[in-house]
Amino acid sequence: MQTEKFVYFDNINTTFPDPRVVRKIDEVLNFRLGNPSAHIHSAGIAAGKVVDEAREKVAAYIGAAPETLIFTSGATEANNLAITGFLKANPEFGFVCSNIEHFSVLNQIRSLRNSVKTSILDVDSYGLVEPDSLEKVLKNNRSIVSLSLANPEIGTMQDIEKISEICSRNGSILHSDATAAAGLIEIDVNKMGIDLLTLSGHNIYGPAGVGALYVNKKIRLASIFEGGNQESGIRPGTENVPGIAGMGEACEALKGDMKSHEKRLRDLGNDLWKSLQESVRFVNFTGHPEKRLPGHVSFWVEHIEGESLLLLLSMNGVMASSGSACSSNLKAKDEDELMASHVLAAVGVPSDICSGSITLSAGRYNTEEDFNYVKSVLPGLVEKLLTMSPSYDDYMKNKETTDG
Ligand code: PMP
Repeated sequence: MQTEKFVYFDNINTTFPDPRVVRKIDEVLNFRLGNPSAHIHSAGIAAGKVVDEAREKVAAYIGAAPETLIFTSGATEANNLAITGFLKANPEFGFVCSNIEHFSVLNQIRSLRNSVKTSILDVDSYGLVEPDSLEKVLKNNRSIVSLSLANPEIGTMQDIEKISEICSRNGSILHSDATAAAGLIEIDVNKMGIDLLTLSGHNIYGPAGVGALYVNKKIRLASIFEGGNQESGIRPGTENVPGIAGMGEACEALKGDMKSHEKRLRDLGNDLWKSLQESVRFVNFTGHPEKRLPGHVSFWVEHIEGESLLLLLSMNGVMASSGSACSSNLKAKDEDELMASHVLAAVGVPSDICSGSITLSAGRYNTEEDFNYVKSVLPGLVEKLLTMSPSYDDYMKNKETTDG
């Protein structure tokens, strides 16, 4: 049963490029640009100008100065540069992150734990880091603290300003992976008190294969690569000029109507949450009900498998995700990673009754009609799966016995 319907609710994993981005990349690819390092001729100078302009636009989105930005191949590389690069230059610091971080942050613990003091903070049942536990870890242990602005799987947004205040009070440095939050909310690194910030092009209606790391001027960072002098020698290698230009244009396109998109998506997301709460039996929402990404609704349903619901949604034209796409494709390095999502485990979702969660993540191209469509089809799909569920069957038999 295939449908022509195309309702995309997987913006957390990738977004479709803004038409202005597509035009910009096309223009850049068609212009005869040289290597930005070839300062000696006009084609190289023109390429350097494209990169400089993009740097200004990306910096403007996060309220930073252009020279504080390093272009990377994406968020994974930016996260590695931020943490391992910082610790290479500042070996006296420790490393603290939460247990719901993306694996590009969390897995750095493995390679760093023999050389620096590392701590993994537990989050509460909403996915929030408890300020007191952070304070306790940082006392007598100056660290780089890496906490994402928002979690892609459960949508929870950390109270980043409070976290930043604790970090600076304890002489520590704050890195925040803003991959999931960028493009959905306004970001100001100075107001938020963030020292290092990760961005990914394809999550902000730009291209994949490009990202950026903001590095506050007071931070000393060492490269983790050997190579040339590009990006101040921190990220050597010839720049991805079309990708960088596309990312710049994506940031430029975000300008102006950020607040109105945020409000529209927040209202539509809240409304979808309420509707599913009333219409879907056995539903359990994940993440914080208010401190969450706009247009993000995540949940699991007792007695049914998340993957089955995802498949039925897809057959009905709705594209969503289960856990994070990165972890579902993960080449597990140990047995823990073969289990259900580390994020669901961290927020205490019981693995014996939860067989996978669903994340519906909207973006600026989603219409009210998209939300209404999900509201109309989802309850019926859940009911269909319940009729096929042995666990639901057992539950009903038990209920009949106990109800007499
Ligand atoms: N951080 C977070 C929070 C992510 O969700 C992802 C995956 N989209 C990444 C980092 C890695 O991003 P990229 O694929 O751009 O390297």
